[in-house]
Amino acid sequence: MDLNYSSEEIAFRDEVRAFLADKLTTRLSNKVKFGKRLTKADMEEWHSALNDRGWLAPNWPKEWGGAEWSAVQNHIFDEESWAANAPRTIPFGVNMLAPVLIKFGSEEQKSHYLPRILDGTDWWCQGYSEPGAGSDLASLRMKAERDGDHYIVNGQKTWTTLGHFADWIFCLVRTSSEGKRQEGISFLLIDMNTPGIEVRPIILLDGEHEVNEIFFDNVKVPAENLIGEENMGWTYAKFLLTHERTGTANIGNSLAALSAMKEIASRQMKNGQPLSKDPYFAARVARVEIDLRAMQTTNLRILVEADSGAAPGPESSMLKVKGTIIRQEINDLARRALGPYALPFSTEAMDEGHNDEPIGPDYANPIASDYFNNRKLSIFAGSNEIQRGIISKTKLGL
Ligand SMILES: Cc1cc2nc3c(=O)[nH]c(=O)nc-3n(C[C@H](O)[C@H](O)[C@H](O)COP(=O)(O)OP(=O)(O)OC[C@H]3O[C@@H](n4cnc5c(N)ncnc54)[C@H](O)[C@@H]3O)c2cc1C
Repeated sequence: MDLNYSSEEIAFRDEVRAFLADKLTTRLSNKVKFGKRLTKADMEEWHSALNDRGWLAPNWPKEWGGAEWSAVQNHIFDEESWAANAPRTIPFGVNMLAPVLIKFGSEEQKSHYLPRILDGTDWWCQGYSEPGAGSDLASLRMKAERDGDHYIVNGQKTWTTLGHFADWIFCLVRTSSEGKRQEGISFLLIDMNTPGIEVRPIILLDGEHEVNEIFFDNVKVPAENLIGEENMGWTYAKFLLTHERTGTANIGNSLAALSAMKEIASRQMKNGQPLSKDPYFAARVARVEIDLRAMQTTNLRILVEADSGAAPGPESSMLKVKGTIIRQEINDLARRALGPYALPFSTEAMDEGHNDEPIGPDYANPIASDYFNNRKLSIFAGSNEIQRGIISKTKLGL
């Protein structure tokens, strides 16, 4: 297997670098680099720059405005974007709902929703989890009852990331209580401006408002907002989750974080020499770097296999588990490298322009916040324990 890029791939990488140099503003890249809070406008700014270039939806078919990149192109774009400190594409519309719409949606739904995802008209959020229905998602209870040409929706979703920015939510709802639990679930698109919806913030360990709980009280949803067939939502939901998990390997992000952490370790002193020279610390760094490089190759191999158009299988669970362990280990090393400077953190430090009185070394501010925030990685998109269960069942036959 030749692991070197072809001349076409090198040309593509140069194109990506030129685009990032031209379109990514210093203001935005500094916010990402220094761990500042990104506003909705910041995220929309980058969404629109990518869309103008035709690069917002690398995996959609060209007929719907996608770029149809190969796995290697995706990989190159990801690495270069993280290295340049570009914001992440918000995944809910582009990477989660869209593949479901493209595979299972009607022609009307595709023509209506896909262009609006691209041009940023609709900001989507994901309504899967409920209190009491996280890992055991099939126990979800939010009810949608058919009433003529509408559904009446009652219940609650929780942990809804960026739901406070969203125009629309795609939801798993219970449309039947008969038979197996999985057989009574449907996939419904709901306009967040419909009367009866209330969004309440949940503040996470890092002090930030990123997730929400959402209440639905007799919300009237047109029946035409149903995706595919009634009570077939579980099939669509599982298809979406494999796409969600593949993205969570987050190689580019880990590479950028590794390089930032090494920089910190080379500046922090221990016993009169840089911490990076400490054998115990250096061994941990080496171990995580080897794991990351190995996963980089595995990720590429899996993506190439998935290029055939099929949804990735249990391999995406493996990428999720390993990718998040690596990312959290890098967080932990950065926190340890900073010692007492990583202890305090203030939410003001996340504000743009808050550089006047950095806490400890000027690179310390985002470290504690990032450490706390990334505890979520091994929980969301199906916890790592659940992924291990999937791997043991599907791959090892246990
Ligand atoms: C920051 C954040 C953002 C999120 N964003 C969204 C979002 O946008 N939309 C959305 O729908 N959801 C979202 N989630 C929810 C996420 O998917 C759930 O938290 C996750 O599925 C776990 O469910 P739970 O929190 O109910 O934990 P539980 O299912 O109650 O699990 C508790 C613990 O028990 C373990 N456990 C449970 N069952 C098993 C089992 N069978 N075998 C072994 N161990 C098990 C779990 O691994 C976990 O450690 C988000 C979560 C977080 C933390």
